[in-house]
Formats: sequence, structure tokens, C-alpha cells
Amino acid sequence: MPLGNDILDSLPDRAKTALRPALRSIFLHRRDDSLEATLSKGLLFPVDALVATSLPGQEGRAVTLMAMGRRSALGVGRWLGGSVIVDARVLESGTAWLLPIPVPERSSYDEILGRPLSSWVYRMLMVSAYRLSCNVEHNVDRRLAHALLWIADETGRPQLSLTQQKLSELTAMRRPSVSLVLSDLQRRGIVRTVHGSIGIVDRRGLEREACTCYASTRAIMRDAALGQAADLPQIT
Ligand SMILES: [Zn+2]
Repeated sequence: MPLGNDILDSLPDRAKTALRPALRSIFLHRRDDSLEATLSKGLLFPVDALVATSLPGQEGRAVTLMAMGRRSALGVGRWLGGSVIVDARVLESGTAWLLPIPVPERSSYDEILGRPLSSWVYRMLMVSAYRLSCNVEHNVDRRLAHALLWIADETGRPQLSLTQQKLSELTAMRRPSVSLVLSDLQRRGIVRTVHGSIGIVDRRGLEREACTCYASTRAIMRDAALGQAADLPQIT
């Protein structure tokens, strides 16, 4: 039975069956609270919730790193033995699977989750590299189209409950630029924006607007869903 998170669904049926009794379905409400308390309990696999990770920036302003949904997992850094350095907050309410993992018992899940999570971390590294080069190489309209498609893929929904301010933080673009690009996309019937919400009306059209980074990162994440770590592309 599909669990609705690509990493979990990439597991063989036997592994999924072994893991299923330990998984707890939880609902994540959109609010400003950090998910620190939840992530201290174990690994979080979003299903239709969208979570944004961020780092504290200079002058107390957080820098948003990534919007994570059904293709992602949170708490992996701690699971790998690192100290928690990123903050995580819910961008869109929805469900997620929590796998409580008391630290001494972590090794009992290594066999099941070690390879899929290592594969996912590698994919995130690749996606982050694309994002860095995207911010330097591509103009704002193409980057914004890329970002909207990424978020839609993470939530599995064409309707995004995002304010322009949140989108500006997620994309590291100035808010007036976000507003201008959205207005243009709306004028051409590609998206529809109402207060606090952005709907993708013409997905094909939006894909044509996006920079090539979108197709590249989508391919990386699609491979991640298959959990084929042996076929990982090489970083050169
Ligand atoms: Zn790009």
C-alpha cells in the first residue's frame, strides 16, 4: 500500500511492512512554531505537508534553504549523527509520517533506511548545487517558474497556499520581483493568484517558462524515488 512519501514508497514491500507498525501519522499545522520538538523524536516523512528549512542569517534574518514535501525526509542530519543546525517550519498544513527513533535504537533501522536516506542526501546535494548555479546563471522569471514547479511537485498539488512574501523568502528573490513575475504569468493565463494562494493553471506553459534546472532536478528526484543509489550521477 502506498504511504504517500517517495522515500518510504521506494522501500521493498518487506521493508515497508517491517517499518509500518512504527510509523505514526501526524498532522502538521501551518504556523510559525519550529518543528524542533517533533524532529527531536525521529525522522519525519511529509506526505502532503510542505515544510521549509532555514538557517539563521546575519542580523537575525533566517535564510530559507528548501521547501520539502512528499519527496523528502526531515531529521536526517540528526539521524546521521550530526547536531541539528537547520530550523524547520510548516509552510502548508498536511499529513506526515513520523518514525520515532530513540537514539540508542537508531541502528535497528540502518538496514532498512540506510541506503534510501543516503541516496536522498546525495540527491539533495545535487539539487542544492543546481540551485546555487541557478541563482547565479538564470533570471528571476525563469527561476520563479522553476521554484513554483518544485513546490508543486513536493506537495503533489497545483494549488499552493503561499504568500508572495513566503515565495520571496523561498526563492531568495526580492518581493517586488516576485510580484512582477507572478503578474506577468497571470496575465498570460499560466498561474492564478489570489491573496495567500497561487494556482498553476497551465503546467506545460509554466514548464516552458522554467530554466533547464527544473528538468534536471526533477530527473534527480525521480531517480531518488526509485532508490537506485548505484545509478547516481557523478559530481565533477
Ligand atoms: Zn535555473
